[in-house]
Amino acid sequence: MSIPRCAFLASMLTIVAMTGCSEVSGTGRKQLMLVSTSQEMKLGAEAYQEVLASEKLSTNTRMAAVVKRVGQRIAAVADRPDFEWEFNLIESDQVNAFCLPGGKIAVYTGILPIMKNEAGMAAVMGHEVAHAIARHGAERMSQQLSVQVLQEGLSRGLGNASPMMRKGVLGAFGIGTNVGVMLPFSRTHELEADKLGLRYCAMAGYDPREAVRLWQRMKDASSGKPPEFLSTHPSEDNRIAQLEDEMDDAMDLYEDASDQHGLGESW
Ligand SMILES: [Zn+2]
Repeated sequence: MSIPRCAFLASMLTIVAMTGCSEVSGTGRKQLMLVSTSQEMKLGAEAYQEVLASEKLSTNTRMAAVVKRVGQRIAAVADRPDFEWEFNLIESDQVNAFCLPGGKIAVYTGILPIMKNEAGMAAVMGHEVAHAIARHGAERMSQQLSVQVLQEGLSRGLGNASPMMRKGVLGAFGIGTNVGVMLPFSRTHELEADKLGLRYCAMAGYDPREAVRLWQRMKDASSGKPPEFLSTHPSEDNRIAQLEDEMDDAMDLYEDASDQHGLGESW
């Protein structure tokens, strides 16, 4: 190997080593990170527009208002003033909800019966917001895509990206659209999102104990086949066990919340 090439590789490795790691606030877990926050938020906003353009917004104004209300309360405690929050209710049988980087939230009408009340919705939204704040999508992109492909895709944006790249980006954020490319988040990401999400739910003034009941309803509804927005791992039983371990801390946060809403409105 010639010296210049070797020096080039060494400097690249140094750059990756210097920029390639970050820490999840709230859990302290170290994560591989080759994507900047601004790149991720740009992709998040593009992916959100893409989903909204291909789906039908619900005309149920009552429930759309509930989505906004619960979403704003979760956003208020998530402490990301740089996010440009948006909350939409999509008309679809899919049992699904997501939050993209930048605070772009969507709830599908198919999941409303399982949510059952505002506290159940807050539990799901808290979980989805936690995926965005802990940068799980960007971490997954960092893990799965080569640096070169990643940089090409990021610099071109979703609009000009190849179909493969688009699918990869949307999948990394946990969006399946209609083509079944949704990649399940890892067990680590799911449990981390549950843990942080429970805190957001409690800090927003919703009874965190409803999160356990929500996962039980999810388990009953899924009867063997997990809903789209859940991965097959961890099992609902593992999630519930972790939530129960975290419940004392969550109840303290709930009691300290400036406004307590209990379960909120039910439907
Ligand atoms: Zn999740």
